[in-house]
Amino acid sequence: MHAIRLNAPNDFAYVEVPCPVPRDHEVLCRVEAVSICGTDPHIINGDFPGVWPKKFPLIPGHEWSGVVVGLGSESAQFGFHIGDRVCGIANSGCGYCRMCREGRFTLCENYGREGIHSMYGHISPGAYAEFIAVNIKSIAKIPDSMSHETATLMDAMSIALHMVMRSGLEPGDDVLVNGAGAQGWMSILCAQAMGAGKIFCSGSGARLDFAASLGAVPIDYRSRDVADEIMQRTDGKGVKRVMECTGTPGGVRTACYAAAPGGAIAAVGFPSQEVAIPVKRLVMNEISFHGSRANPGTLEKAIVLASRYPDALARMITHCFPLSQYAQAYETFTKRLDGALKVVLKPQIK
Ligand SMILES: [Zn+2]
Ligand SMILES: [Zn+2]
Repeated sequence: MHAIRLNAPNDFAYVEVPCPVPRDHEVLCRVEAVSICGTDPHIINGDFPGVWPKKFPLIPGHEWSGVVVGLGSESAQFGFHIGDRVCGIANSGCGYCRMCREGRFTLCENYGREGIHSMYGHISPGAYAEFIAVNIKSIAKIPDSMSHETATLMDAMSIALHMVMRSGLEPGDDVLVNGAGAQGWMSILCAQAMGAGKIFCSGSGARLDFAASLGAVPIDYRSRDVADEIMQRTDGKGVKRVMECTGTPGGVRTACYAAAPGGAIAAVGFPSQEVAIPVKRLVMNEISFHGSRANPGTLEKAIVLASRYPDALARMITHCFPLSQYAQAYETFTKRLDGALKVVLKPQIK
């Protein structure tokens, strides 16, 4: 089969590789569509040496959708059949450690141990390929009404949903979505679906315009102090829930100053350096700060919520390329050429 193989940092090629064979609890899927994630350029650049990937070569890609074409010996008894339309996530926990048994499999105690844990497209072979073998724990069936292109967005949407749930959002709560990228857009949709009050979104340019088109109140961080603006628009109270998606030191501090007393911040972004945060403000106002890691148990929930937003999700995908044109797709995504938001690859189109 053909795949994009990362041989070393910034050295990838469209090559022929052996087709994987599914193990007992795995299925073989024909990849119909795979979306470029914001993490992929970091993996390709070699920003996580020895971690993602642990070693080269690696087939990246983890936001994918496809069709089951082969079954491991145990997969059928769990309800998977040839022809099932499915989408996938990156993490497959060992299933047996304490964190997995508590449902927190993205914190698996056997993380990275080959053979019992997988992280597709990061450590284990991913979906920039014609086929992928995946554990049935890390896929979900999609409805006929959902296109494979939209289904590639369910990984990102389920990550945002976990963050919104980690924030403790209750109906009517005002929200700041800090950062207008894919996690920000998905957070807006999830917060809306869960009954949020006003949803503010900080960002700039076309990506902030897109957030506004989803129904958020836009705040341009280049021309305004986001926390000040939040205070002005909430009678000095702040917002009950902040989704921190910028992963920048300034963004993290903004989150801390925009949160209301008794409120909470949930964060998916992580700065590459340590950040000074106003602990006194957090303590004296009982503001909690929750790390939020990937999508434990939220994939099926996200697929249900997504059915409310077919147009918004379809508009997020601005470009489609055959997998063989990955280099062009990658440039379009990383340089945000031609209004690029989400960029999708189609491995079955030659
Ligand atoms: Zn991703
Ligand atoms: Zn585990």
